[in-house]
Amino acid sequence: MRFQGPTPGLEYLIAAVSFLSISVISAAEPVRLVLPKQHGPMLEKAAAIFMRRVNERCGAAGGKPVTVELRVSPGIGMEAYSIANAGRGAIRVTGNGDSGVLYGLGKLFRSSTCDDGRFVPGTWRGSSKPVGSLRGIYLASHFGNYYEAASSEELERYVEDLALWGVNAVGFAFPTWQYTGFDDPAARANLVRIRAMMKAAKRAGMQVGAMVAPNQVFKTAPKELLAKPYPDDLHRRGNLGFNMCPSLPKGREYLLNMWRGILDEYRETGIDFAVYWPYDEGGCGCEQCWPWGSRGYAQLSRDFTRVARERNPNTKIVLSTWMYDTPPAGEWDGLSKLLNEDKSWLDYIMADAHEDFPRYPLDQGVPGGLPLVNFPEISMWGMSPWGGYGANPLPRHSQYLWNQVSHKVTGGLPYSEGIYEDLNKIIYSQFYWDPKRPADETVREYIASEFSPKVVSEVVTAFDIMETNHRRNRRGPEKPLQRTAEALELMRNADAKLSPQARQSWRWRIFYLRALIDNELSKTGGKPKGPVLQEAFAELVKIYHAEHVHTNKVAPPDLVQ
Ligand SMILES: [Zn+2]
Repeated sequence: MRFQGPTPGLEYLIAAVSFLSISVISAAEPVRLVLPKQHGPMLEKAAAIFMRRVNERCGAAGGKPVTVELRVSPGIGMEAYSIANAGRGAIRVTGNGDSGVLYGLGKLFRSSTCDDGRFVPGTWRGSSKPVGSLRGIYLASHFGNYYEAASSEELERYVEDLALWGVNAVGFAFPTWQYTGFDDPAARANLVRIRAMMKAAKRAGMQVGAMVAPNQVFKTAPKELLAKPYPDDLHRRGNLGFNMCPSLPKGREYLLNMWRGILDEYRETGIDFAVYWPYDEGGCGCEQCWPWGSRGYAQLSRDFTRVARERNPNTKIVLSTWMYDTPPAGEWDGLSKLLNEDKSWLDYIMADAHEDFPRYPLDQGVPGGLPLVNFPEISMWGMSPWGGYGANPLPRHSQYLWNQVSHKVTGGLPYSEGIYEDLNKIIYSQFYWDPKRPADETVREYIASEFSPKVVSEVVTAFDIMETNHRRNRRGPEKPLQRTAEALELMRNADAKLSPQARQSWRWRIFYLRALIDNELSKTGGKPKGPVLQEAFAELVKIYHAEHVHTNKVAPPDLVQ
C-alpha cells in the first residue's frame, strides 16, 4: 500500500494501532512508522506528510523498510525535537509536542537519501529547539499568481512542505481591491483556495493569520468615503485608489463591517493572528488621520483588535510599520507615545523595508517594548517580472539583511509572491529557527535533500553565479551577465546525476531554467527573444499556473523581436 493522494494508506496505519499499540505501514513502504498508542490527528498528519515526501523522493520501494518510532515527550523545550537511535537499526524521533515530531521528521527526511527506492536514513542525531516564536510566511494570493491559480491540492501540499522546515505560521490577505464584494465570483474562488491553505496549515499544526490593510476596500466602495492623498514623495507607499477614510463615521462603519466579513469567511479555522498593514496598500492623509501611522491607522487597528478578540480572545496581533516615516512624519515617535499609554491591543511590532532595516526600532527601541518581527522581501527585490526568469536564489542578500536584525527579532513573515523563491523562504525559516545558522548551510541542506547530496558543490556555485546576475527587469538584465555558460554547465552536470524524481521536480526545473535563460540572455544581448527563451518561459508559465494572470508582474516577460 502506498500513499498516492494526501492520506491513502493511513486507514491501514490507524487500523493497526488499535490492536497492536503500534502502527505499521506495509512492508512495501521504504519506511515503517511506529506511532504511540495514544495519539491525535496531528501526529497522523505528521506521519502522512513525511511518508508523502519519502514516496515522492524514493519512487518504487525496494528492500527492507527502515523503522522510525515517533514519540511525544514534553520537557525538551517548546516545539523542540530530538532524533536518536532506538536499537536494531530503528530511529526514534521525539517531539516536545506533535509539532516537534513533524519538525523532527523534516530533519530526518532532509538528512536521509534514497538509493534505488531504498530509504537510507541520515546519520544526524541530536536535538534542536527553535529560537524564534513566530516563524511565518505570508502567501500573497492576488494578480493570478501561484497562490491564486494553483489547485487547492497543490497548495495544501506546498503548505505542508513548509511545515517540515519548522514554519509555524502562515498569513493570508484577501485582496479586496480586486473585487466588487464578497459575492464577486472571483473573490469566492480566491477564498476557496485561501481556506484550503488555512485548513492544510492548521492540520499541520501551524497558526493561520489574516494580513489586512485595515482601510483598504472593495473597488465598489462609495467614492465619497475614500481616503485623502498623503505624502509619498519617495513613491514607496503604493496607491491603487481603494483606501477609505476611517475618520468619517460611515467610513469607519464600512471598514469594521468589512473586517467582520473577512473574519466570517475564515470562521471554519478562525484566525490565530492578524497582521495590520499601514501602506502599500493603505493610508489616509486627511486632517484627522494624518500622520497615519500614529493616528488614523493606530486607532482603526485598535478597533480591529477588539473585533478579532471578540471572536477569539487569544488572537495575537502584529502591527506592521511598513514605510513609516518614509518620508518623515513623526509616525514612529507618535506610535511609541501611544503604546507607552496602552499596548494591550498588540503582541508584536513588525518592521522592515525594501532595502536596509528601518533604524528607529534598532536605535530607539521597539515601541511599547514589544517583541519585534521582520517582513523580509524575498520575492520582488531587484528582479521583475517576479519569478519571470525562473528561481531567484538570494542567500548572500538574505544573510546581509539578516545580520542587521538577527539579535533583535523573534521571527517574521517573509512576503511571498510565488514558489520561485522557495529557497529564500527556507533560508528564513532556518534564520528564525536558529539565528546563527548561516544561509549557506541551509542552502546545502536544501540542495542535498531536494536534489541530491552528490550535486551540492556544483549547484551551490551555480546559485552563486545566479545571485551575482540577479538584478533585472522585464527588458532584461541591468548589466552584462557573467559566467552564465559555466552556471549552465554546472547545472547540466548536476542534472545528469539526479534521480528521475528529482530531475523532473518543479523545484529543480525552476533553477535549471534560470541557468538556461541567463545563458540565452547573454547570447541575445539581454533581450528576451528567440525559441529557446520562448520554450523556457512556457515551461515556467505551466509550473506557476500563470496562464491567466491579470498583471504582467507574475509571469515571464513578453518576447521581443
Ligand atoms: Zn482620513
